[in-house]
Amino acid sequence: MSSDYHIHTPLCRHAIGLPGEYARVAVEKGLDEIGFADHNPMPEPFDDWRMLLEDLPRYIEMVEEARGQFPELPIRLGLECDFIAGQEFWIEKLAGMADWDYLIGSVHYIAPGWDVDNPKLIGRFDEHPVAEIWALYWKAFEQCIRSGLFDFVAHPDLVKKFGHRPPGDLRSYYEPCIAAAAEKKVAMEINTAGLRKPVGELYPAPEFLRMACEAGIPLLINSDAHAPEEVGADFDKGRTLATEAGYTQTVRFHQRKRRFVPLGE
Ligand code: ZN
Ligand code: FE
Ligand code: FE
Ligand code: ZN
Repeated sequence: MSSDYHIHTPLCRHAIGLPGEYARVAVEKGLDEIGFADHNPMPEPFDDWRMLLEDLPRYIEMVEEARGQFPELPIRLGLECDFIAGQEFWIEKLAGMADWDYLIGSVHYIAPGWDVDNPKLIGRFDEHPVAEIWALYWKAFEQCIRSGLFDFVAHPDLVKKFGHRPPGDLRSYYEPCIAAAAEKKVAMEINTAGLRKPVGELYPAPEFLRMACEAGIPLLINSDAHAPEEVGADFDKGRTLATEAGYTQTVRFHQRKRRFVPLGE
């Protein structure tokens, strides 16, 4: 039994394929549940890689169309929300705008106008010490978890996307986030998209995941698909990482309530 809860749609302006096309691939690959989680709209035009607020009704409609096309496949409605300190009110507002099955919290922005995973801003890694960038990222990620706004958080160590990592033991970056997630009962994902990025690794690192498992943090395995063929991509590697970290189950969400299922094949 496998689910994929981190799937985008063309409404974010950098993904291709209708929800029904993603669902078809999910069925072909033997997944038994999927969920869409496109990049959340903001109150005002904000950047060029998220859905527009006026497209939110269309998003919900597209997911419903896919449900109609694949009645045998449970299709959940989620949203990948950027955590931005001081803008929590907006996420609270979004939470009331649809029958969400789950909200994902993500940190892409580590400072105003600085989305750390944006290839256009990769030069900033030459302008700032890596340890400084990492500190900003992990502080924001901890706040994201502590906000209590999200059912799970995405791609835990996204900041490594282009391969930049401070030397030595990284556990001091991870620890506050693990503690926050355990305290706030927030789940986390293994995100296979890292394998498709310059770093060429799953998010998060094995060490991070061992700590998460030890702390009892629930887990999902997701693809972050931006094209239909990416649904369920590299889930074998994701499951191996999960098993090696000590996990035996994953978590699913329906109407923001969670349930555990055995780690699938
Ligand atoms: Zn995206
Ligand atoms: Fe993301
Ligand atoms: Fe995503
Ligand atoms: Zn993502």
